[in-house]
Amino acid sequence: MKIYNTLSKRKEEFVPLEEGKVKMYVCGPTVYNLIHIGNARPMIVFDTVRRYMEHKGYEVNFVSNFTDVDDKIIKKAIEEGVDASIISERYIAECKKDMEAMNVRSATTHPKATEEIGGMLDMIETLIEKGHAYAAADGTVYFRTRSFKGYGKLSHKNLDDLQGGNRSLLVTGEDQKEDPLDFVLWKPKKDGEPYWESPWCDGRPGWHIECSVMSKKYLGEEIDIHAGGEDLVFPHHENEIAQSEAANGKPFSKYWMHNAFLNIDNHKMSKSDGNFFTVRDISEKYDLQVLRFFMLSAHYRSPLNFSAELMEAAQNGYDRIVTSVSNLSYLLENSVSDTISEDEQKLLEEAKGFITGFDEAMDDDFNTADAIAAIFELVKFANVHAKADCSREFLQTLKDEIIMLSDICGLIVEKKQEMLESDIEALIEERQAARKAKDFKRADEIRNDLLAKGIILEDTREGVKWKRA
Ligand code: AMP
Ligand code: ZN
Repeated sequence: MKIYNTLSKRKEEFVPLEEGKVKMYVCGPTVYNLIHIGNARPMIVFDTVRRYMEHKGYEVNFVSNFTDVDDKIIKKAIEEGVDASIISERYIAECKKDMEAMNVRSATTHPKATEEIGGMLDMIETLIEKGHAYAAADGTVYFRTRSFKGYGKLSHKNLDDLQGGNRSLLVTGEDQKEDPLDFVLWKPKKDGEPYWESPWCDGRPGWHIECSVMSKKYLGEEIDIHAGGEDLVFPHHENEIAQSEAANGKPFSKYWMHNAFLNIDNHKMSKSDGNFFTVRDISEKYDLQVLRFFMLSAHYRSPLNFSAELMEAAQNGYDRIVTSVSNLSYLLENSVSDTISEDEQKLLEEAKGFITGFDEAMDDDFNTADAIAAIFELVKFANVHAKADCSREFLQTLKDEIIMLSDICGLIVEKKQEMLESDIEALIEERQAARKAKDFKRADEIRNDLLAKGIILEDTREGVKWKRA
């Protein structure tokens, strides 16, 4: 399996630190609003990376944080006249709903910055002891950027170019820095802001330190993969490397993966520019599986332009897989043949080629565009060869294979049949009859079966009513 590593700027063979295990950290969202579909891109991409790694047999420890203390969260809390934690908790809950709707699995651990302040204070202290950080007169603690030899190795920037060409790095209020390149680890509180006590001043952490600390706590000092959107390469990930490697004296992450932007009219989709659609907006018009399909139809390192036409194409592509699976289910239900024929066996051998094609695409730096093309080939093959007189084993194998490949992409392609009203009512009648006959066991059984299918019964004075959960 090859992964493009931002650090070396080339595709490298993936060799985990520990055999059979993957330690992976993905920078998560700052929670002050509903997430937009740009934020959804890394979620979908790296969830798919995780799923594929698990399919290959790796045990993946997947950590993704919520940044729950930040200027934007505090601003919103002040606007609403509530505590910052009310804002962050609200949008963490909303983000989790969106993730679930996009079939993005929960991380093994979702740490929150505000719950990891102790670890941040420890790491900052270590950095000061080792001469990599210093406290200014007002209590702000800065990382001494030039003290870390490898600074710039991820973003492939040269320190002197940075200093010469980017004076704007010298931000107002940060004039106590020894060097304009130094960045904040800890800053003094302002009125009305959340703060924590520290040896330097009451205050709060800078943004970068949280990921170094959480990654170390939940995955260890050295990890396999660190990931996020490409805007995080500089300064966020560059600063994380400096903090972690200076504090721990070890290489931080072996592979660095970055997704390209989701654009709109060829500009990065972002909250601050006001050119965005939230995941919630999209869910009003499309099944979010279509959004997932759309994201995976491009390679994660290629920019992707959001448009109604591309979403329509994604809808058609996704529907093609769903229709094929439901056609196979129908044939399966009606098949009368128990024995697989030799011809069918040969066809299944041929179909294995599409699975190999899928794996080859994914092994090549997670080329989901080609992997989806391989699913389409399998779908086309099934559409041609699955007939009413086919054996159950043949039909089931094709169906399982399409579902397996789709599932690696996190695409749900088997639509569960909703129970028909007439079937529900027949069961309710049977339950009433069982109750009359004092067969409460059967009555309860029916109630529970219906519940398992998402049908809730309510005994009211006017009789039994039901609703879908
Ligand atoms: P933020 O909440 O801005 O820190 O972003 C959370 C994640 O979404 C980071 O990995 C960002 O790189 C990523 N991200 C934000 N906007 C976009 C976009 N338009 N396209 C792709 N990724 C994005
Ligand atoms: Zn981060």
